[in-house]
Amino acid sequence: MKNHSDIAIIGCGPGGAVAGALLAARGYSVSIFDRDHHPRHHIGESLLPASMSILQSIGMDSAYMQAHHQGKYGARFFDPVVNRLEVFEFALPDDGAPPPTFNVIRETFDLQLRDIAQQRGCRIYENCAIATLTEEQVPVQIQNHCGETHTCDFVIDATGSAAMLARKLGHREMLPDFGRLAIYNYFSDIPAPESADAFERQYITMHLIDGGWIWFIPLRDGSTSVGVVLKSAAVGKNLNLQQQFLAAVRQSPLLHQRLAQATPLASYRAASDYSYYCGQKVGPRHVLIGDAAGFLDPIFSSGVHLAITSSARVVDAVDAVLQRGEHSALRQYQADMEAAMRVFQAFVERFYRRDLVRNLFFSADKNPLMRKAIINILAGHVWDLTNPLIQMLQSNIPKDVCCTDIAESGHCENDKAAVSVFPTPEITPTLPTPYAGSR
Ligand SMILES: Cc1cc2nc3c(=O)[nH]c(=O)nc-3n(C[C@H](O)[C@H](O)[C@H](O)COP(=O)(O)OP(=O)(O)OC[C@H]3O[C@@H](n4cnc5c(N)ncnc54)[C@H](O)[C@@H]3O)c2cc1C
Repeated sequence: MKNHSDIAIIGCGPGGAVAGALLAARGYSVSIFDRDHHPRHHIGESLLPASMSILQSIGMDSAYMQAHHQGKYGARFFDPVVNRLEVFEFALPDDGAPPPTFNVIRETFDLQLRDIAQQRGCRIYENCAIATLTEEQVPVQIQNHCGETHTCDFVIDATGSAAMLARKLGHREMLPDFGRLAIYNYFSDIPAPESADAFERQYITMHLIDGGWIWFIPLRDGSTSVGVVLKSAAVGKNLNLQQQFLAAVRQSPLLHQRLAQATPLASYRAASDYSYYCGQKVGPRHVLIGDAAGFLDPIFSSGVHLAITSSARVVDAVDAVLQRGEHSALRQYQADMEAAMRVFQAFVERFYRRDLVRNLFFSADKNPLMRKAIINILAGHVWDLTNPLIQMLQSNIPKDVCCTDIAESGHCENDKAAVSVFPTPEITPTLPTPYAGSR
């Protein structure tokens, strides 16, 4: 390893690569370390419109994305029991406008991001797992699995669900109430849907089933990512992954019929116990971004969006620390990310309670204001405090009451005292750091 860089980023997924590209563009020397090498498999294919301006700022504009990835015009929720489809469009697929966002094959997308980071001057070290980090002295020392040492002035932890620092510092708390187990595969030759559903491939569709849901994400190469997400109580005993997957898909009979005629392209894969929260996202010389700072649930495709937006937001904060020693910028970063996660978390909780689906998504007489409010959250605009649904979600008022009220009135006037969903931790970025020595 070369010896020193201003900033070391651990992890080269979307979070690490975007942060690297943006910081290198500001003139910092940046090294990015990944224990794997690209291209590599990763789940998480569906992006949100609110990420697109950041991707554009590093060269992935709409034309570039359209050349490589599948356009996504909105999110659809399908209830197979009553055969009801609710569509939330970010834009209309047949109006000629470029797609507002995309479904990506992560092997390709993450490789493209790595290459952009490299072209902008980041040094990339692949097959280089970081094992230890010593932060109590300047410069910070990081060691890889071979015992080689690299030094830097600041560390960004972008290690995804490995959540390297949060685990080591004991800041990672599991969130038990969300989807517990996801099983997925990729399929080709899925028979076309009924003609009434001609635009299926321009959307992501979520099929609602007992104890969970199924994602249907069309990809640019003609394949489709299909995954089932189950809450703990819905996980069957003594079933292998394929049996578990098929048992869940059977609850959506038309999809089951179509998949029975399709070709699975890989073996069934699973992810489990993936929902967690990290209360402390910053330290004197480190910050956590993307999944390393917490991951909620795949239902609203918020993962890559939060990884990318946390990268963009962390750049100013790291700049302020390195240029002016201003740690308040890190506190602001932490507060911003907490606010975004609170909105998504409240949305996810209500989704699993199904009151969101019953009272909002499938309510027949949604007023236009409420429809727009839902679409804006689904698009990832979670910092928009003028959104009445965000006002409601942020205020944490009783859940059953509010979803109904807001669906009827279009706004929420309930001013009951807020109960924090996430604790708001005290942040004390003073030296020395809470952990010391090499691990
Ligand atoms: C079932 C499921 C479905 C999902 N579906 C979606 C979706 O449709 N849309 C969406 O936006 N999100 C989805 N997500 C979430 C999405 O996958 C993640 O939020 C996203 O990949 C986070 O990006 P990241 O850069 O933070 O981390 P990652 O993409 O996980 O990248 C982390 C990188 O760090 C590296 N690393 C880890 N430890 C070390 C170490 N010690 N040293 C060096 N390198 C290390 C890893 O090799 C990896 O390359 C889904 C998640 C799950 C579980």
